[in-house]
Amino acid sequence: MNEKMNLLVALQEIDLSIVEKTRMLQEIPREINRYQSPLRKAEEDFRKEEARLRDLEKKKRDKERELQEIADRIEKLKGRTGDIKSNKEYQAHLKEIEKIEKEQYLKEDDLLYLMEELEKLSAVLEEKKARIGEEQKRLDEIKADLDGKAKTIEAELHELKQKRNTLAKQIDPSLYDSYMETLERTDGVAVAEADNEVCLGCHMSIPPQLYVEIKTTDELCRCPQCGRFLYRKS
Ligand SMILES: [Zn+2]
Repeated sequence: MNEKMNLLVALQEIDLSIVEKTRMLQEIPREINRYQSPLRKAEEDFRKEEARLRDLEKKKRDKERELQEIADRIEKLKGRTGDIKSNKEYQAHLKEIEKIEKEQYLKEDDLLYLMEELEKLSAVLEEKKARIGEEQKRLDEIKADLDGKAKTIEAELHELKQKRNTLAKQIDPSLYDSYMETLERTDGVAVAEADNEVCLGCHMSIPPQLYVEIKTTDELCRCPQCGRFLYRKS
């Protein structure tokens, strides 16, 4: 391979690495995003249970208020017992108290049930909260890991770009322009190996005479089909 070709091959290698590393770097925020979904899910679960808890607490307060009202009513009724004159009236009075006390008993039962539910739900909420903590910790670890990865790639990219600058300066400007133009037109691969009379850039046949010339001439050869610069390893 002649010197000009050597430089182009080296430049192409660096350019491919730069493209690959840039792609890897861009992939990192997306990767972090993907790992965020378990945390979002845990937070959502927590909020749902929290809403249920608030609802139950409201029901409990309502029930307590109702019970207070019932207790007041019973007290009032009992206070009137002394005013009752007839036995019939007295029986009706007792019946009324009994009826309200039954209501009180049922509501106390409801309250007890609500309190048990609240206790259970509090435990569930604690679990959900712990889960958020775990997911957050996991995400932080992943983030730290990926941030480290990003820093390494950035350093590598910096080094590659420096190498590229040095290399580009050694290439004749018009050849460099031609390389860049080809690079753009061929989606990032301007230099291709020719093997067995085939251009490995576009996979089309190369005329046998040109295939021989690639090896022998000091000029740079290009694929007649895709225009890539051609070199041969053997
Ligand atoms: Zn080709």
